[in-house]
Amino acid sequence: MVKKYWKCTVCGDIHYGEKAPEVCPTCGAKEAYVLISAAEAKTLLKF
Ligand SMILES: [Zn+2]
Repeated sequence: MVKKYWKCTVCGDIHYGEKAPEVCPTCGAKEAYVLISAAEAKTLLKF
């Protein structure tokens, strides 16, 4: 299984895993995650 980056469209939370969480642990939004590229995730996370 390949891990990917996901972003909550409501609060901007980044999740790294095989699939998006059903519920955002930060803001509680349901099915709010969208797939983003690793490059975008690194920009948002400021590695
Ligand atoms: Zn959220």
